[in-house]
Amino acid sequence: MADEVLFRGSRWTLVSREDHSRAGAERRREVVVHPGSVVILPLIDASRVVLIENHRVSVGRALIELAAGTLAPDEPPLSAARRELIEETGYDAGHIDALTSFFIGPGVTDERMHAFVARDLRPVGQRLEDDEQITVREHTLSECLTMIRDGRIEDAKSIAVLLYWAQFGGR
Ligand SMILES: [Mg+2]
Repeated sequence: MADEVLFRGSRWTLVSREDHSRAGAERRREVVVHPGSVVILPLIDASRVVLIENHRVSVGRALIELAAGTLAPDEPPLSAARRELIEETGYDAGHIDALTSFFIGPGVTDERMHAFVARDLRPVGQRLEDDEQITVREHTLSECLTMIRDGRIEDAKSIAVLLYWAQFGGR
C-alpha cells in the first residue's frame, strides 16, 4: 500500500493511496491520515449536559457541539479527553469513562473518534487555544434530543454520542 504524501498539515496528512477497482485496475484515492480524536459528553447531573457553541471556519458559522479534539502525538485518548474537557468547557471531571468509538468520516479519513462520558464536574476555567472561539452552554438531555430532532444540533459526532447516551447510558 504505497502512500504518496500530497500535503502535511499541522494535525493530519493528505495522501494519495494505491487501491484497486473491482475489475482489478490500479487507481488512487485521496485519504486524510489522522491521529484520532476524542469527544466528551460532560454531565452536570443525571439530566444536564454541557455543550459548546463552536465557531467553525469550515462552515463559516458556529455549531452546537460536544467538546472534542485531536489527539496530540502519542497522547492516550483518556488524557486527551480530560485536556479537551478543561480547555473547551472549563470543567475538570472526577470521573471520565469510555463510552464507544467510531469512524467519523470513513469516506475521507481514517480518523477514529473515542467517546467519553465525564461526571463529577468541577469548574476550573476555560483554556482556549488561540484559534478557538467557544461559548459554553448547558441543556437538559431532553432539550438536546429536541435540538437533534429539529436540526439545531447539526454536528454528527454530537448527534451520535447524545443518541448513544440516551439509548444506552446508565446501563
Ligand atoms: Mg480543542
